[in-house]
Amino acid sequence: MNARMLQPVRGMNDVLAEDMPYWRFLEQTARDLLGGYGYQEIRVPLVEHTELFKRSIGEFTDIVEKEMYTFSDRGGDSLTLRPEITAVLVRAAISNGLLHNQKHRIWTWGPAFRYERPQRGRYRQFHQVDCEAFGYDGPDVDAEMILLSARLWKALGISRVTLQLNSLGTPESRRDYRERLVSYLESRRELLDQDSLRRLEGNPMRILDSKNPAMRDLIADAPQIVEHLDAGSKAHFDGLKRHLDACGVAYTVNPRLVRGLDYYTRTVFEWTSDALGSQDAVCSGGRYDGLVEQLGGEPTPAIGWGLGMERVTELMRESGVTPPGVAADIYVVLVGNRAEGLGLALVEQWRDALADLRIATHLGGGSFKSQLKRADRSGAELAVIIGDEEAGRETAAIKPLRSGREQEECRWPEVPTRIRTMLS
Ligand code: ATP
Ligand code: MG
Repeated sequence: MNARMLQPVRGMNDVLAEDMPYWRFLEQTARDLLGGYGYQEIRVPLVEHTELFKRSIGEFTDIVEKEMYTFSDRGGDSLTLRPEITAVLVRAAISNGLLHNQKHRIWTWGPAFRYERPQRGRYRQFHQVDCEAFGYDGPDVDAEMILLSARLWKALGISRVTLQLNSLGTPESRRDYRERLVSYLESRRELLDQDSLRRLEGNPMRILDSKNPAMRDLIADAPQIVEHLDAGSKAHFDGLKRHLDACGVAYTVNPRLVRGLDYYTRTVFEWTSDALGSQDAVCSGGRYDGLVEQLGGEPTPAIGWGLGMERVTELMRESGVTPPGVAADIYVVLVGNRAEGLGLALVEQWRDALADLRIATHLGGGSFKSQLKRADRSGAELAVIIGDEEAGRETAAIKPLRSGREQEECRWPEVPTRIRTMLS
């Protein structure tokens, strides 16, 4: 009797070998670019105190109200699998004393967890590349953050993305705006859905972020925050737009863009794509000048973005990007007992001499024909073949798989040099 097959957790995916080239290309490109712009990679935990996310993301947000994986550990502490990474990087910067009058640009990548309804582009474990800059208060860093992401799309071969920008002002200018918004919403109370009615008290701006189509018109006619900016925020926003214009980065100002987390101030932005269906945001971020202090650190201006890796890899596929392969360079075919017996030891010696090449060895025997078929499917340039005859002569045949060139036979110690010449 077979044991019952275990199912994966809903909304949590395996990334299979055929998807890996896209992931590796994205990871490597992000690492190279971020490193090049002077961002330093750090690694942070997947689990944090629940309070970190309540205090940063905000109590009246979808994430904190209904999406967090929260549990008590055996000591009775309330812990949460991180639903996003910005708050974690802020916590890490504070805990490690990075922010005493210092500037830091850091990044990390890895999983985040949200109990959402799984669908295309929306999963319960998903992955983000996340970068943050601490200690910079001017619009230049806002622009650099956006330029960096724009360059990433270019390096990955993605074109169907557009940039939306908005400014949320400061907490003070937001208070004025909030009053106007609330009186507008109060006067149309009968049009509000359940969620919005609740948010009207706790966090009315969140209503602008509603995904309910029935609310669209109401939201479209609401007062716009960009028209209520304080002078400093307006100058900051103008400065950002000037940098982007100078660098030739196109954008649309979207007055409805408020983003799903509470901590933002001034600049917010989102890259979306029309190639992804309704989960169209691929990278989003903004400035959060109050958050570090709010989490117990010294007042520090800060900005960052997070990119959804599942959505970006899907977009790479939709854009017809061919990521660099991870094929073997050499596939070693071993036919017969003698070759199989000697093969592993020989290949280890060749690997010592060819450390930069990828050499895959056929295991488990089989006919010459079936092994050669595998060699071909591996994508390798060359097959190195040892059958009984070659084993008797202490030689190997080296067969080019991607060109019509003749195969060559040589003695075992000469195999590495012969491979070099044949690959050059
Ligand atoms: P959305 O509006 O699509 O829910 P969000 O505003 O909640 O996105 P952020 O919290 O800003 O997203 O996260 C940054 C990025 O992470 C998003 O732009 C998106 O690409 C990705 N992302 C967010 N939630 C998910 C998810 N459940 N599954 C896959 N990717 C996600
Ligand atoms: Mg969301």
